[in-house]
Amino acid sequence: MTVNILVQSSYILAAVLFILAIKWMNAPTSARRGVLAGELGMLLAVVGTLIRHEVVDYQWIFIAFFLGSAIGVPLAYLMPMTAVPQRTALSHAFGALAAALIGTAEYYQHTPHGFTMVALVIEVLLGFLTFTGSLMAFGKLQEILPQRPIVYRGQHVVNLSLLGLAVLIGLYLILHPEQTWLFPVFSGLALLFGVLLIIPIGGADMPTVIALLNSYAGLAASFMGFALDNYLLVIAGALDGSSGLILSIVMCKAMNRSFTNVLFGAFGQLQVKAGAAAERTYRSASPEEAASILDAARSVVIVPGYGMAVAQAQHKIRELYEMLTRRGVDVKFAIHPVAGRMPGHMNVLLAEADIPYDRLVEMDDINSEFAQTDVALIVGANDVTNPAARTDKTSPIYGMPILDVDRARTVMVIKRSMSPGFAGIDNPLYYMDKTLMLFGDAKVFVSAMVKEVQALAA
Ligand code: NDP
Repeated sequence: MTVNILVQSSYILAAVLFILAIKWMNAPTSARRGVLAGELGMLLAVVGTLIRHEVVDYQWIFIAFFLGSAIGVPLAYLMPMTAVPQRTALSHAFGALAAALIGTAEYYQHTPHGFTMVALVIEVLLGFLTFTGSLMAFGKLQEILPQRPIVYRGQHVVNLSLLGLAVLIGLYLILHPEQTWLFPVFSGLALLFGVLLIIPIGGADMPTVIALLNSYAGLAASFMGFALDNYLLVIAGALDGSSGLILSIVMCKAMNRSFTNVLFGAFGQLQVKAGAAAERTYRSASPEEAASILDAARSVVIVPGYGMAVAQAQHKIRELYEMLTRRGVDVKFAIHPVAGRMPGHMNVLLAEADIPYDRLVEMDDINSEFAQTDVALIVGANDVTNPAARTDKTSPIYGMPILDVDRARTVMVIKRSMSPGFAGIDNPLYYMDKTLMLFGDAKVFVSAMVKEVQALAA
């Protein structure tokens, strides 16, 4: 009885902590607290589960615990921030595999019937397809597999038929759970479907797909909760499932893509507008010239992007921010929801460099300010500043909400060359009269600017 109360209380507390964790992770100021709450919740969930069941032997649990930590901890520390999408894909792959394997073990041990079998079939279907789907997404992002969409005629029909067959076998298994020979066929079809689902999707859409796979892994865990009669798993899985879905919707909106377009659109074949870059002229400037323009400005909006993450320029940017602020310049940071390669990428990097949170302004709030801004300083961002998204109906990114940097009085762009960004398209911003290209690695260029501003101050 007391054990039961202990287990139930630890589960309720864990569930509350999971919900608070998601809420707190919503804002940079409370994000650390959110992570801690999530960790504590997970600890309570594991402890609660261990005391709930009579554990015959802790040996395997400890082996798994140390093995998991030995892989997870270095993975978290060694993986660069720019590789977080593929790391997340790997985590989903293993989480989903765990759900599918537990479902398989449960099936062979207890051969459940009725509602439990329904939950188990859904858990295994989602678990296995998310496992191979996430591995494919990892392979594409890590460039182990070709990034381009692999498409062939009749692909959707093949995929839908395969899924349909898996669902039919699943239904048959629900009605006749004792037909154990069908279970491996069912699992095999789910594994195959995961691969086929991802191959027609281009590398460019993988981060969105990963958010969606996250949602599937959560749903698999939730159904596992029903199959195992564990309410905490139901709650945690549902939280994961719904937040993954909401995240993928937010990402689709920020890129002006629809769900069906991401899943069936075969976007991501890089398209560079031929000739456009070669014919047009642009102006470039040195760190010294750029520094004196910044020094003379009253308001500066810094727009970070993927290039800042690659160059790890955020610490040098903080130095520049502090120096300009001390000289009376009003400096803000404009955050586009899909700048970089994962949602919140820029927030994380700027927070790591101790840039005050209240200086970070979201796209919808900052856009009306650009017209009164003296200098928009773009650091390794490209697509998220491309005015073609507003004006050029033929552009692949037409309709994507962007940061209206072209409305600032002067635009300065730090990047290494005239190469396109993620979407593979030219950026008309670079050829405007008010734009100065600052060529170089973001960290090197910003360091040079810091020195020049320092010299001006001396
Ligand atoms: P982009 O990928 O459009 O552009 C980045 C730019 O950074 C490049 O043009 C590159 O130019 C420059 N760059 C690269 N390395 C360096 C360096 N070391 N120093 C200086 N510059 C460098 O990035 P944005 O952040 O503007 O846009 C993000 C893109 O990613 C969008 O298209 C978005 O849709 C997509 N995306 C984002 C996701 C998210 O969740 N954040 C998810 C999925 C997709 P050069 O080579 O000349 O240096």
